[in-house]
This record gives sequence, structure tokens and C-alpha cells, in this order.
Amino acid sequence: MKIHIDGQLFEEADARISVFDHGLLYGDGVFEGIRFYNRRVFRLEEHMRRLYDSAGSILLKIPITVEEMTAAVLETCRANGLDDGYIRLLITRGPGPLGLNPYTCPKPSVIIIAGGLSIYPEEAYRTGLVLATCATRRPAHDTLSPQVKSLNYLNNVMAKVEAIQAGAEEGLLLNDRGMVAECTADNVFVVRDGIIRTPSFAAGALDGITRRAVFEIAASLGIAIREGDISRHDIYTADECFLTGTAAEVIAATKLDQRLIGGGKPGPVTGRIIHAFRELTRTTGTPF
Ligand code: PMP
Repeated sequence: MKIHIDGQLFEEADARISVFDHGLLYGDGVFEGIRFYNRRVFRLEEHMRRLYDSAGSILLKIPITVEEMTAAVLETCRANGLDDGYIRLLITRGPGPLGLNPYTCPKPSVIIIAGGLSIYPEEAYRTGLVLATCATRRPAHDTLSPQVKSLNYLNNVMAKVEAIQAGAEEGLLLNDRGMVAECTADNVFVVRDGIIRTPSFAAGALDGITRRAVFEIAASLGIAIREGDISRHDIYTADECFLTGTAAEVIAATKLDQRLIGGGKPGPVTGRIIHAFRELTRTTGTPF
């Protein structure tokens, strides 16, 4: 595997960053997870925009332009010779002295990894995922904005641990008001009486790129879709529930807290969205 660090490609064994990098010491940095299908990077411009927005929000100046970053991502994909895969793009605050002051770090690091990925077994796409509600809450807007894809994912990691301990595959996070925010790395949607609903950004949902694609797909299929507050009860009583994320793509959730959702089987609206999403990933994207 070839890994890009600060403008150069390294073999995995030689791809190293400093132990004084504040990305490691303090989780000070931002990232994107991006996917490529059939040698085309899906929604690359949107990921770039979110990356630069996340960085700007934490006063992290990315040392290269969007055009240079785009070229670096495509070059890393080419160098790894894969048709399909997952890109992890990180910008860390860079090395500096101990002490969390970011102004002591003169040079942020750019790291691009392009490799394979499978987070759920193939069978989960046929049966749907089992979810459990986590006690860990999605951080509120008066903490670091939940829109920043920062290198601090411990909240989500702990939620994932809770889900696994509860015998579930994915954890549902509520916000500080007790309403549904999202899952540990996925946005969440419910379908009832043919209408799709999903939590708003105000509820703590990330502005997911797959979430956006689902809005476009729903519009093109003539299915009503709305943003608004969703409670756990709304998921328990939904006809269908599905999750979206770059890694997970679109996947049904068929059980939450031991309640079967929609009889415990992936539903027809979810099926149509999955089909259309696969078509979109197969036929669009930036070629490399
Ligand atoms: N929520 C969180 C917390 C995430 O980390 C992700 C993955 N980036 C998502 C939702 C889904 O977003 P996307 O569709 O852009 O991958």
C-alpha cells in the first residue's frame, strides 16, 4: 500500500508521522472518509468542501489548495491500483512542543490513505442491522460543532462499544434533548406511510454526503422526504429504518432495543433507495 504524506508517496512501513504531532497528542485535526467505485471517486468535490469547512472551523489552515488536494487524492488512488476502495484523508495540526496550544505547530500534516474496506458483512445488507440506543449522547452545539469531522471520535467510539456490549451492530445516539441525532458513523432515516424522515443538523446530524444523495434520490423517485425531530418511539413504530454513510452506504436497520422495525425485514422504500444509490455510485464520480 502506498500512503501519501505531505506531497510524497511512501510504502506503508515507511509512512510515519511524528509522535509530537498534535493530531496524535490532542486529536487536533480533521478528516474525511471518501469512497471510490470503478476507478471513480464519489462526490469528491463535496468531501473537499466539507474537509476545508471542518479545518476552517477549527482555525486549521490546510497547507495546499483544494485543486492540489484533489490531485493528491487522485494520485494516491492511482498509485494503489485498486478499482474500488475507501480513502481516509487526514489533516493534523502537525508536530509541535507538548502543550495543547495549536499556534506552536507551524506545519499541518496531510495524510492520504487509499485502501479496501468492508465494515458490515454482506449478509447485513440482506437482513438489516440490529441497533441499540447508547447512553453516550451526541455532543451539543455549544461544544465543538458536531459538523466538524474532527480527529476526536472517542464519543462515537464509546457509543460503538456500548452497542457491541448490548449485542447490537450499531449504536443510536440521542442529542442533549433526548431526540435521535444519528448513529456512530451514519445518518439515520425512518419511513412511515411512504414518507422519509431524518433528523436535522440542529438535532446533531452530520451533513452527510450520503444523506445528501438520499435527498436527491428521493426527489427523483418522487418520494416525500423531510427533516425534523425523531424520537426512539418513531423508530420503534416506523415501517422502515435505514442508515447512510460513506462506509456503510445505504443499509436497513431492522431492530432497535429489541423492537422489530417493520416486521424485522428491510422494506421496499429502503430497497429502492439502495438500488438508486448503487446506480449513482456506479455511474458518477471523478475518474482517476
Ligand atoms: N455521522 C458521522 C458522525 C460520521 O462520521 C459519518 C461518516 N462521515 C456520517 C454521519 C455519514 O456521513 P457521510 O455520508 O458523509 O459519510
